[in-house]
Amino acid sequence: MIVFDLKCANNHTFEGWFEGRSDFESEKESGRLACPICGDQELGIVPTGGYYSKGHDRKGGQTSSGDSFVKVLTDYFEKNFDNVGKKFADEAIKMHFGETDLKNIRGTVTDEEEKELNEEGVEFIKIPMPKLQS
Ligand SMILES: [Zn+2]
Repeated sequence: MIVFDLKCANNHTFEGWFEGRSDFESEKESGRLACPICGDQELGIVPTGGYYSKGHDRKGGQTSSGDSFVKVLTDYFEKNFDNVGKKFADEAIKMHFGETDLKNIRGTVTDEEEKELNEEGVEFIKIPMPKLQS
């Protein structure tokens, strides 16, 4: 069985199951086939191009997966986190003590600041990201 996307003269589209294209043609010739919405019998097969677009998608997937993990991660952080640069430790501590509203921030910390954040119990994730070491 194969499924065809069918369209009537009034542009209604619906799915039809057939043994094959010739089965569709004979069903149509015999007048047993009609649009379930308006009953129209002038039905045509909508070219879906499913196989072509599947192959196309796979190709596109390869291209995007060519981006490195770090690049994807960097893009995500740039889009969703405010860059506070070297003030990261200050900002993180302020948020930790409720002095400022919670938000997503990114930035850099020195070893000393990192120790301070750990001592204060501030939760943060450290990701090696050369691009952010500005
Ligand atoms: Zn119709």
